[in-house]
Amino acid sequence: MELEWSETALRVLEQRYLLRDENGNIVETPEQLMHRVAHGLAQIETVWGATSEQISSVEQDFFDILWKRDFLPNTPTLFHAGLPKDPKYRGRRFMSACIVLPIEDSIDGIFKTLWDAAKIMQAGGGVGYAFSRLRPKGSLVKSSGGKSSGPVSFMHIYDVMVDVVAQGGKRRGAQMGVLNVHHPDILEFIDAKKENTSGQGPLHNFNISVAVTEEFVQAYKEDTTFKLVAPHTGEVVGELNAREVMHKIAENAWRTGDPGIIFIDRINQLDYLDDGRIEATNPCGEQPLPPYGSCNLGSINLKHMLKKTDSGYQWDWEKFQRTIRLAVRFLDNVIEANDYPIPELEDYAKKARRIGLGVMGWADALSLLGIPYDSEEALEEARKVGAFLKEKSHLASQELAQERGVFEFYDQSKWKELGIPMRNAAVTTIAPTGTLSILANVNSGIEPYFALAFERKITAGTFHEVQPTLLDVLKERELYSEELVQRIIENEGKLRDLEDLPEDIRNAFPTAMEVAPEWHVRMQAAWQENIDSSISKTVNLPYQSTVEDIENIYLLAYELGTKSITVYRDKSLELQVLNVPSTS
Ligand code: UDP
Repeated sequence: MELEWSETALRVLEQRYLLRDENGNIVETPEQLMHRVAHGLAQIETVWGATSEQISSVEQDFFDILWKRDFLPNTPTLFHAGLPKDPKYRGRRFMSACIVLPIEDSIDGIFKTLWDAAKIMQAGGGVGYAFSRLRPKGSLVKSSGGKSSGPVSFMHIYDVMVDVVAQGGKRRGAQMGVLNVHHPDILEFIDAKKENTSGQGPLHNFNISVAVTEEFVQAYKEDTTFKLVAPHTGEVVGELNAREVMHKIAENAWRTGDPGIIFIDRINQLDYLDDGRIEATNPCGEQPLPPYGSCNLGSINLKHMLKKTDSGYQWDWEKFQRTIRLAVRFLDNVIEANDYPIPELEDYAKKARRIGLGVMGWADALSLLGIPYDSEEALEEARKVGAFLKEKSHLASQELAQERGVFEFYDQSKWKELGIPMRNAAVTTIAPTGTLSILANVNSGIEPYFALAFERKITAGTFHEVQPTLLDVLKERELYSEELVQRIIENEGKLRDLEDLPEDIRNAFPTAMEVAPEWHVRMQAAWQENIDSSISKTVNLPYQSTVEDIENIYLLAYELGTKSITVYRDKSLELQVLNVPSTS
């Protein structure tokens, strides 16, 4: 398999990842970057008494999987691993991508968290918050005798904060704002990004999600009302019809992609710590966390977990298991080596030791196996690969528990009930891998291809690209020609309807818009069966989809057991990260 860096990957590396001196000159090669990360995260093993021979062997193994891009940790780890902590700037070397902070119902609480969030943003992390504990708009403020302006008003302050904190100049601020569906201000919240059709309007530094409860879903099914409860008093202050509220959520998602939905009761029930404290997720939704929870993510490149045999591509289970084992060790080491911006984060991270090992390049792997993304066979494959990831990553965490001990909250966890000693309260998560997948030259996360030839807009500029796995296959089959690539581009990046191409290739390379929305949801649900935390996935809908189509997607997602659901209707925002080049 290819080990070359793609042009885009090199540009992204230069722009964002490679170290620079104080004059802005790059002082690191890609190889040195991977050595720095491998070295820093192997060295930390001295805290568990590792010898120098053991450390250099671990360092070599870490370097090997990073350099081959069999596994990559989330961006903040690539930025900061192996760099000395600076006592003057606590938390500048933070390595986690996912954080959830609490927001208490007081001015002190709201502005303490604003400060904490600013520190995290500076280091390149993304923060999620539930605004659900804030008293509703119009409630009395005892100390002043005035009236509260409500959760949505405070979200605007957080939004502006992100605009002015430059995230170390390297990474755009990402935030998730969650409101529980029973909060009296829920209708204002659902409409909060309604006018944001440009992607640049109010709350553009926020993804927003409604935390939906079982009670709400039941009310939806029975077409009845559900209660609105003031969080600061526990009083029932009203009720709304569940179908009307769901319709309103769907209407706004149809317009702008926001809000998404998270099934908050299911998330808490399925969490191994099961203490009911999870109120929110990180910005892209894959990582539900309790207050002050943080998580280090990492993703295995599934394209590299295949081997070529005489009868085509097959999973290389041995290599896959070896990679999983190293990746779990790597992510557990990050918890120890991390430079936490605030003490509460360090405290919780070391007690729960949540890590998020996931995958990228799922679409590429399916194509090489010759399996259409939108097929029962693909769902079966997702269950098979997911079960392997779960089993082997849990095993790796158990091995670490023997070496290093179980996580501190173990006694209050379901793992204890199950009699399984674990090093980490949760092990698997599927991240979006927005930039990692560019470095690894594969498709992001478990998404289908957006387009097989496309324009990519990133901070570094706009580039035309042809999907690399398709190129491999076309070349292998001696079908590649500039003329064919041009035809695919002119066909809005699709090839299923290019009838002169062999049928197996046309079937194995569907794009996100050709995959029917139901198949997106079914794929997300098939993976979710084996993932401890959650999954970042967008259900792409054609432009012509209706609000009712979106409501049906929500219901299907609930019935199939997903933990969250996000839809995006084609062309609904003026600013799209990926654009299919138009033929005109
Ligand atoms: N994230 C962020 N800013 C960004 C992109 C991502 O804060 O511009 C955070 C966010 O919490 C997201 C997580 O990083 O859910 C993982 O995103 P992704 O996998 O795309 O990041 P990568 O590691 O590929 O850069």
